Amino acid sequence: MKLKTAFVYTDAYLDYDYGPTHPLRIIRLKLTYDLIKAYELLDLPSVQIIPTIKAEEKDLAAFHSEEYLEILKQANEGHLAGSAYCFGLGAGDNPIFPGLYNFSLLLAGATLQAVDFVADEKGEVAFNIAGGLHHAMRSRASGFCYINDPVVGIMRLLSRGKRVAYIDIDAHHGDGVQKAFYETNRVLTISLHESGSTLFPGTGFEYEIGKGEGEGYSVNLPFPHHTDDDVYVWAFEEVVPELIHAFRPDIVVTQLGVDTFYDDPLTNLHLSILGYERVLKRIKDLAPKWVALGGGGYNISNVARAWTLAWAIMNGIELKEDLPESFSREAEKMGVKERELRGSLRTPLHSQNEENRVEMERVVHYVKETVFPKVKR
Ligand SMILES: [Zn+2]
Repeated sequence: MKLKTAFVYTDAYLDYDYGPTHPLRIIRLKLTYDLIKAYELLDLPSVQIIPTIKAEEKDLAAFHSEEYLEILKQANEGHLAGSAYCFGLGAGDNPIFPGLYNFSLLLAGATLQAVDFVADEKGEVAFNIAGGLHHAMRSRASGFCYINDPVVGIMRLLSRGKRVAYIDIDAHHGDGVQKAFYETNRVLTISLHESGSTLFPGTGFEYEIGKGEGEGYSVNLPFPHHTDDDVYVWAFEEVVPELIHAFRPDIVVTQLGVDTFYDDPLTNLHLSILGYERVLKRIKDLAPKWVALGGGGYNISNVARAWTLAWAIMNGIELKEDLPESFSREAEKMGVKERELRGSLRTPLHSQNEENRVEMERVVHYVKETVFPKVKR
C-alpha cells in the first residue's frame, strides 16, 4: 500500500499575535508552509491538505479544567480577569492577546484532525506544524502554551482504545504531557531535552520515571548544555528504539521542536540539522503510524527549513539543497537570508565535551537499569 500523508494548516493562524517583543512569532508557520509549498511537497499525489477546523470546547475539557477554560475565554476578548495571574496568564511568557482562545482552538483542532486522520486509517502520517504546545497544564498556561494540544490529542486516541508513545525532541522538557500521563501505562512519554538545571521548565530529570501503574512509562534524557549531534543521537539510539519495540504502540505522537540548534536564541544545545535529520529518519522507521506536531523554534529561518525537511522525510522525498527562488525572494523580506535548505546548520559543532558524553553515559545507564525492565506491551 502506498504511503498517505496529511498536512493540516490554515492561514488563519496569522490573525493572532503574541506581541512585538515575544520570541514566539506566528509568522514562522506561514514561512514553513510557504517553503513546503515552494518545494512542491503539497502536490504529491499521496498528500492530503487538511484545512484546520477549530476544536470544540468539550475536546479541550477532556483535559483542561472548566474554570481555566472560562478564564481563557475572558482573555480571548483581550481582557485580563482579576484571577488570570493565578492561571499563568499575564505579561511575559503567556501574554493575553485578542483571540488567544480562538487561536488555541485552532491549534488543538489541527492536532485532533491529525489524530483522526491516522486513527481512522486514512493514512499513516499527519503533521500539524502549529501544535506541540507541551507545557500547558490542566489549569495553567506555561511556556507560551495555553492549551496542551498533545495531551488533548493523545486523550482522543486513548478514548479510541489506542496505545500511544509520545516522543518529544524539543529543547525544553515536555512537562505538561509527562504530568498528564504520569500514572498510566497506556501512554509512554519520552522526552529528550536540555537539562532542567540550565533551562525552563526545570524538570525532566532521569529519575522522573512515572508513578503507580505508570512507573517506567515516563522517560527523560536531560542533556547538558552544548550537547552536540554525536552525543545526542547516541543517547537517542541507546534508549528510544528499544523502548518503542518493547511498548509496541498503535500510534506514535511526536513533538518536533526545532529549538535544539546551536543558533537558537533561547536554548543552549548544539545540534546541527544533520543530527535532527538522523533522529527524524529513525522516528519514521520506528513509527509506522505517526502524528507529528510542531513545537518550539525561535530562529524562524531554522523553523521553516527544519520542518520542511521533516515533512520531506515523512513523505520519503529527498530535497535539493538550493531553496526555491520563489520562496527566497519572499522570505528575504522577513529577514531570511539563507539560500540553502541545510546551509550553515549543516556544519556539525563538535563541542569538545568529553564531560557531556560521560554524563549521558551515566543517564543512559540509569534509564536502562530502572525503566527498561518495566516497559512492556
Ligand atoms: Zn522548546
